[in-house]
Amino acid sequence: MKGLKAKNVLVTGASSGIGQAIAVRFATEGANVAINYRKSPEDAKETEEMVDNACGQIKGCGVKSLLVQADVSQEEDVVRMVNNVVDEFGSLDILINNAGIQIAGAAHEIEIADFDRVIAVNLRGAYLCAREAIKHFLEQGSGGVIINISSVHEIIPKPQYVGYSVSKGGMENLTRSLALEYADKRIRVNAIGPGATITPINDAWINDADAKAEVESNIPMGRAGTSAEMAASVAFLSSDEAAYITGQTLFIDGGLTLYPAFREPWSSGD
Ligand code: NAD
Repeated sequence: MKGLKAKNVLVTGASSGIGQAIAVRFATEGANVAINYRKSPEDAKETEEMVDNACGQIKGCGVKSLLVQADVSQEEDVVRMVNNVVDEFGSLDILINNAGIQIAGAAHEIEIADFDRVIAVNLRGAYLCAREAIKHFLEQGSGGVIINISSVHEIIPKPQYVGYSVSKGGMENLTRSLALEYADKRIRVNAIGPGATITPINDAWINDADAKAEVESNIPMGRAGTSAEMAASVAFLSSDEAAYITGQTLFIDGGLTLYPAFREPWSSGD
């Protein structure tokens, strides 16, 4: 895709799922990829190997990969991570805020520490990474791109997951506010809103045929999405093909945000 070759990209939470697919996709586009992991570098080794071999083991894609540790909820970690990427790659052009968690529980029972943790990773963490990236974008003077990995739960309520729901709802205005604030500095900020996607965050249903069928029965297109489908949209929004798009959330959800219950006109008489 236009404008991705030789760009320097940081993907948070890239050791699995959607983040891993995004890292691999950027490598195939010829971009250098910094792979953020939270705990042990071993967690991110698989992604690193996939990035290094994305264009075949012999030739590779001719791109650099870098493993960078950080808990995105920790300010000092985020500052160190972004500086590390800039030091190693020489600049940062694209930030993908992908790291995310969810904790289930009835809203009247959930521990406040659990609520705080979800907001700290999903929303505050995304802001912290954006803040540090924008500092570098402004210093470099060559603009930049931020893509937030939001969710259909940016607009669809999620009972039993109030922290997650609030974090993704907040991400909409994080995206829009940053987009407006830095539009004249050639910094574009967009988001994608995945629907149900086959990744480890959904282990509860992806390996259980009945549970998976139940999930997929609620999706107008009749199937869950793949990480590669999410990564394709992230590549597009990061590329020069999307040069005039900012402040938007692109939902990639097989129709989940189309109010599937209205497929039959139950609310209208003859
Ligand atoms: P995943 O669990 O495979 O990926 C989440 C990643 O975030 C993991 O690699 C994890 O190590 C990392 N992470 C968690 N806490 C972190 C922290 N404090 N610092 C750094 N990294 C941290 O799940 P996924 O589905 O690939 O999720 C990726 C993103 O996509 C999340 O933001 C999630 O909310 C969003 N999303 C997923 C789905 C889905 O159905 N899979 C749907 C909508 C949105």
